[in-house]
Amino acid sequence: MTTYKLLLLPGDGIGPEVMNEVQKVADLLGQAGVAKFETETGLVGGSAYDAHGKAISEADMGLAMAADAVLFGAVGGPKWADVPYDVRPEAGLLRLRKDMQLFANLRPAICYPALADASSLKREVIEGLDIMIVRELTGGVYFGEPKEIIDLGNGQKRGIDTQIYDTYEIERIGRVAFELARKRNNKVTSSEKHNVMKSGVLWREVITALHKRDYADVTLEHQLADALGMQLVRWPKQFDVIVTDNLFGDMLSDVAAMLTGSLGMLPSASLGEADAKTGARKALYEPVHGSAPDIAGKGIANPIAMIGSLAMCLRYSFGLGDAADKIEKAIANVLAHGLRTADIRGDARSIISTEQMGEAIREELQKLVA
Ligand code: NAD
Repeated sequence: MTTYKLLLLPGDGIGPEVMNEVQKVADLLGQAGVAKFETETGLVGGSAYDAHGKAISEADMGLAMAADAVLFGAVGGPKWADVPYDVRPEAGLLRLRKDMQLFANLRPAICYPALADASSLKREVIEGLDIMIVRELTGGVYFGEPKEIIDLGNGQKRGIDTQIYDTYEIERIGRVAFELARKRNNKVTSSEKHNVMKSGVLWREVITALHKRDYADVTLEHQLADALGMQLVRWPKQFDVIVTDNLFGDMLSDVAAMLTGSLGMLPSASLGEADAKTGARKALYEPVHGSAPDIAGKGIANPIAMIGSLAMCLRYSFGLGDAADKIEKAIANVLAHGLRTADIRGDARSIISTEQMGEAIREELQKLVA
């Protein structure tokens, strides 16, 4: 049995509480003979700042670079509101993304039937929803130079951000989207604003050429980003994989996230370039939610997004799609039995704790892997 090296970075707030449940799921999979994990734990965010005066230590960065995958909890909180900007908790995550060159952010939006009523949209619009947003994460307007505020000298200032995309950046994110679509429902919707942006014109050209050259078997459509925003809330089930840039992806993935109800349910993956020889990618998996300081330490956080992040890790980093399916099935079963943490309580009569939710998922998983 292959041994996979996992680095756990629980972080701050509810991060350690939900990561604890992931560690137990990984242990169960090990005992059941599904896969063997060698886990190490490091510090990131405010907890790393308290220990080392930095948002992540060089030693933990080294572990992250050497790991087969990194599981990340969440960082931040009021305790660190006034620490210097370059060592603020979020700097730890940004450093990981930068050094590991994680250019592809995958955010699935899946609606579990048992939770369809938690969405602000009608049940028939979202029940059974399963879409994947692929967002470019290391380029575009968040990083382009010049990026500044200049004084115009006449009582006015000018704020400047620059949207830049090169062919190779569009091609590599396009490849991730097409490859994913092949393993799903074989459709990619590419989104930009070529009607008003030159980077959008290039984005469309490059994706169209890549499709023609290497992925003609996948259905490709293009939608302007504003129109896609409308379509996401009108009829989201028309989509399979959506690929878009950093800025539009930031917004559209948040819209898609809320289609499904709660932040506590949503995993994500960030992937780097595939190694030319082995095909392995650097990868970091994390829940979409933050450190939730308002509920930290109360033992009531929903661990499903974090456990779902482990499922994504098994599927995308280790090729253990079957085990990933089983984790997701265990989650669906627990929800179908009516078990709820506070954030997804709906009109459930009783709610369960983080630990109880973790335990219920492991009980279901145990049956599925037996
Ligand atoms: P948040 O996601 O932490 O919380 C938003 C709301 O959702 C809160 O009411 C919280 O209690 C609830 N919530 C979030 N996750 C939950 C879970 N698993 N179970 C139950 N309820 C859950 O966002 P925020 O309040 O805007 O930010 C809090 C801190 O987290 C800030 O310091 C922010 O910078 C940081 N943050 C970090 C990340 C990250 O680490 N990737 C992402 C977003 C925010």
